[in-house]
Amino acid sequence: MTMSSKPGLTRRSVLGSVGAGVGAFGLAGASVVEASLLPEPERMESFDVVVVGSGMAGCAAALQASESGARVVLLEKLDENRMGGNSLLAGGSYSVPLGTSQAARDDYVADYVSYCLGRGNETIFRLMAEHIHGDLDWLGSRGVELLAAEERPPNRVATVQTAPAAFAGMPRAFRTLKGVLSEAGVALMFETKARQLIMDESGAVVGVRALGADGVADYLGRAVVIATGGYAANSQILEGYSDPNAGAMMVRGVKSATGDGHVMAQAAGAGLKGMGGLMALHVAAVDGIETAAGQPARVVPYAISINQDGRRFVDESRGYVAHGKAVLEQPGQATSLIFDQALRESVAEGVIGTFERLGRPFHQANTLEDLAELVGAPVDEFVRTVENFNAAVEDGAAPGANPPKAKLANRIETPPFYAFSPLVPGVTLTFGAVMIDADARVLEPDGRVVPGLYAAGEGAGPVFFHDYIGGGALTNCLVMGRIAGRNASA
Ligand SMILES: Cc1cc2nc3c(=O)[nH]c(=O)nc-3n(C[C@H](O)[C@H](O)[C@H](O)COP(=O)(O)OP(=O)(O)OC[C@H]3O[C@@H](n4cnc5c(N)ncnc54)[C@H](O)[C@@H]3O)c2cc1C
Repeated sequence: MTMSSKPGLTRRSVLGSVGAGVGAFGLAGASVVEASLLPEPERMESFDVVVVGSGMAGCAAALQASESGARVVLLEKLDENRMGGNSLLAGGSYSVPLGTSQAARDDYVADYVSYCLGRGNETIFRLMAEHIHGDLDWLGSRGVELLAAEERPPNRVATVQTAPAAFAGMPRAFRTLKGVLSEAGVALMFETKARQLIMDESGAVVGVRALGADGVADYLGRAVVIATGGYAANSQILEGYSDPNAGAMMVRGVKSATGDGHVMAQAAGAGLKGMGGLMALHVAAVDGIETAAGQPARVVPYAISINQDGRRFVDESRGYVAHGKAVLEQPGQATSLIFDQALRESVAEGVIGTFERLGRPFHQANTLEDLAELVGAPVDEFVRTVENFNAAVEDGAAPGANPPKAKLANRIETPPFYAFSPLVPGVTLTFGAVMIDADARVLEPDGRVVPGLYAAGEGAGPVFFHDYIGGGALTNCLVMGRIAGRNASA
């Protein structure tokens, strides 16, 4: 690392500053943005590659760049105990093809394309399919413990879980990664918030101006990798792009996912894509307190969901994301997921165990009337809804129910009866992203490359649309993070 108090490089800061508020995304006049530019700092440090964000994408990029011979600094706005951002509190599953043959990769890609309604990023799905087995071996060889792959029908993907278990693996993984990065010589700068990208006269990105405990500093490099994650915690972006009411949703992840990379990259000329509407969000109906692990995704397709008026409102077999988005439209933005003893035994036991471990309540009653009372729904309407649904079940579907259920329809008839309630919508991750190509180079809206600027992870792509097959987000972070790190160091 080189420290200097005299800029050796002619440069200028780009317009637009994270934290400037109204300047973001051109929502207000440029003069407001210009006024918020940080001053020229006294302190500057030179590296080869500057990585912003310490989640899975940032760690993969930084470690790969360092192993490729670059001098690397990694900037993270949180303190070191929270290194990892959303990746730290993720379930920790990676999706992989069901083998290394071309046919297995093609199936994996086809399932992602179909899950994302044909609007996902096939180029990146192919890179994920091609590299993830090798990239997980790479991660494992650096000390991150992983469990054996488990198939996840009906999709033709398997998931590899970070050891020791769901939601318990990532904290251990990040402790390991922190040690590995330090040993590799990567400078880790915590509580250091990137605020502006720095460009030279040729229009290339040559560094980041950041605000840390010691004030403003410039971190210069031949290349910058943006790995700042999504914008689930930025109500301005959610309300402006996704839905006027989206800012009221629970944030399942960290509050630092505020789209800073989107703002900085756009100010440097980058295009944003896939930002519009609820299709840009992954929403799940979750417990209002334990918003991360307190979510009964596994139970949703088999159970029935009843709103505060005592009515069903969605085909639950479409899965937990379609369910989560439908809850947004319900009275009080809340629902109760109802099932019986037979479903408890076949699909819900594990989720009940998680709720018990978290100390979160679920309701149990011997009659439907009592369950309705417990969840606060009008008793007559609630019971009528369940009875009508039961009467409509035939051959595992309920085509005559209101609304119809296409598959996985089970009569709710064996006491005791249960409810996870209330469940409220929470944003898991966001899909709108800084545009990148297959080399993780950031693109302008017209497809030109922004020289020196790379991006990877949740905030780069865009990769997914409407939904993703579980494990795909971390797979994208690891694969595209390594590609960004390799190319940034070249
Ligand atoms: C509860 C939950 C469970 C999940 N489980 C899974 C799962 O099992 N499998 C899966 O595939 N996906 C899962 N996801 C999604 C997945 O965790 C994320 O998509 C992924 O971790 C994003 O990684 P990232 O590296 O892009 O960003 P992050 O991990 O969010 O890291 C970005 C980092 O950048 C930092 N940062 C932001 N702005 C700045 C700035 N201006 N300056 C410096 N630093 C900055 C942030 O503080 C953060 O630490 C889950 C999400 C949630 C919320």
